[in-house]
Amino acid sequence: MKVLDLGCAHGHVFEGWFASEEDYQAQRERGLLECPVCGDRQVDKRLSAPYVQTRRGGDEPPAAPPSAVQQAELLQRLREWVRGAEDVGERFAEEARAMHHGDAPTRRIRGRASLAEAAELWDEGIAVLPLPDTPLLDDKALH
Ligand SMILES: [Zn+2]
Repeated sequence: MKVLDLGCAHGHVFEGWFASEEDYQAQRERGLLECPVCGDRQVDKRLSAPYVQTRRGGDEPPAAPPSAVQQAELLQRLREWVRGAEDVGERFAEEARAMHHGDAPTRRIRGRASLAEAAELWDEGIAVLPLPDTPLLDDKALH
């Protein structure tokens, strides 16, 4: 069973349950998916968001400072912290799971995951942290 974060053209967000990714694709191609809120059939997977894995591969990520005034400082600390993480892209959930089970070398990783994938990781006791989806955190800004 695969849980996907879906959204319609009107910005409604909902979960879709499918037997597999192929099942989702097939239903989508046949126009069988529709928004439960407005009935829109322009349903698509929501873009995955960036995450880092925490607790494995060393230190903890910086905690949010108490005041919004310090956001710039947090972003700076977050960038430094993320800089040392290996970018595994869309394989994030897979890699985080492999590390958790000792099937991959322990290291700090970052990548992209859907909300459903992140929730699954949390359910399995794998702590991940959503990152602000900002160009300041992408590779070009980091290197
Ligand atoms: Zn809708």
